[in-house]
Order: sequence, then structure tokens, then C-alpha cells
Amino acid sequence: MNDMHIHLKEGINDAEIFKKYVEKCLQKGFTSVVFLDHGNRISPKHKEVLADKETIDKFNKRIINFNKKQHDLKIIRGIEIDYSPNITFREKTNEILKMGNFEWVVGAIHSLKFDSLGGYLDAVIDMINNYDINIIAHLKLDDSFKEYEDKLIEIIKLCHAKNIFIEINTSDRSRWNDSQLDYMLDLMDKYDVEYVLGSDAHQEDDIGYYFDEVKQKIDNYKEKKVRCKK
Ligand SMILES: [Zn+2]
Ligand SMILES: [Zn+2]
Repeated sequence: MNDMHIHLKEGINDAEIFKKYVEKCLQKGFTSVVFLDHGNRISPKHKEVLADKETIDKFNKRIINFNKKQHDLKIIRGIEIDYSPNITFREKTNEILKMGNFEWVVGAIHSLKFDSLGGYLDAVIDMINNYDINIIAHLKLDDSFKEYEDKLIEIIKLCHAKNIFIEINTSDRSRWNDSQLDYMLDLMDKYDVEYVLGSDAHQEDDIGYYFDEVKQKIDNYKEKKVRCKK
């Protein structure tokens, strides 16, 4: 499985860093990956990357030029957007999306505080309904996730209807535990929603991080499933 969530960061401006990213992807045996970075941010503490025309043009140009020459690896031009309930912020995000004509729009909830997992999941539902995204990044679950099955099913049904993927995030920050992973795999299977893996790498060393372990867990899940059906 390919890594569909790699922050390019300095590689946007620096050809050497970009090359290192590519080498790491090839070394990992990937054939198609998503390079992306954050757009406009809702927290002033976070750096905006793909938020002005000059940076977006550089990002697009570097990847388009790369894809013209190289054939073992295809790079998809992505962006990770911050969800916000604020209309002005959304308009700015939509402007950026239009400007960049990105191939893979990753919807994420960052910086917002919620009283419960339910409130967070409501925000995810609002994000799906109001943003044109391809995938939901690092869907966060906690120990109470089974109490919110209705909301999770609603999210999964919306993903099915809108052809939105779910990311299985492999980073230490956002990885599901085994019971969460099995539960989500069950839901996605039941409602016919596709998933991809994403390392959420912020440096080239983290590209494909923890993929083998998570792939093994997915294989174990599938095996269990087949045994149950027999
Ligand atoms: Zn994120
Ligand atoms: Zn990210």
C-alpha cells in the first residue's frame, strides 16, 4: 500500500530535499504517493504553507515536472485543509483549493477543542457536508468510541455516498489501537468505504512509518473475518 499523506515542507523550495523524499518513497517500494502540505490554518500557532499563490505554484510545478520525467513513482498533488465552522475561513480555503487545483484534498480537524468525542464527530460530519474533500485524515477515536456508533455510521454512510476515503493514519500521534482499527475496518467493509494508509510524515525519515506493522494488523483482521465466515 502506498503512502497517501506526506508533508513536503522544505521540499517545496529545495530540490535536494525533494529528491530525498522521492528516494525514500522508491526505497519503500511505493508506486504512487501523495505529497501535500497544510493550507490556511485556524490556529495562529500553526504555519500556513500552501496558502499563497507563489508557494502553491512552486509546489505544483515541482511535482508536475517530476511526473513528466519519472515513471516508477507517480506523485499526486495534495493539500491538507483545516476544517472550520467559520464562513470567512472556509471561503479562503475554497479560494486556495481553486488556485491550486489539487488532485487530493485531505480534510482534517485541527486545533479545535470538543467536550466529547460526539462533538468532534459532529464537526467531522459538518466537514463532509461543507467541504469538497477526497479523504478524512486521522479520524480520532477514544475509549468511548462505541458509545457514538450512530455518528460513526453516519460518517461512513456519507463517505460511501460522496466517495470519500478514510485514512488509516500510521503515525504515533494518531494511530488507532487494535480494537479501534478492527472496528473501523468492519464499518468500512459493511458500508463499502475505501481506505488508504498515510504516515503523516513531516520529514523524509517518517515516510512509510509503521506501515508493515499496520498492514500486518489489517491482514490479521481479514484472516479473522474469513475464518468467521466459514
Ligand atoms: Zn493533520
Ligand atoms: Zn498531515
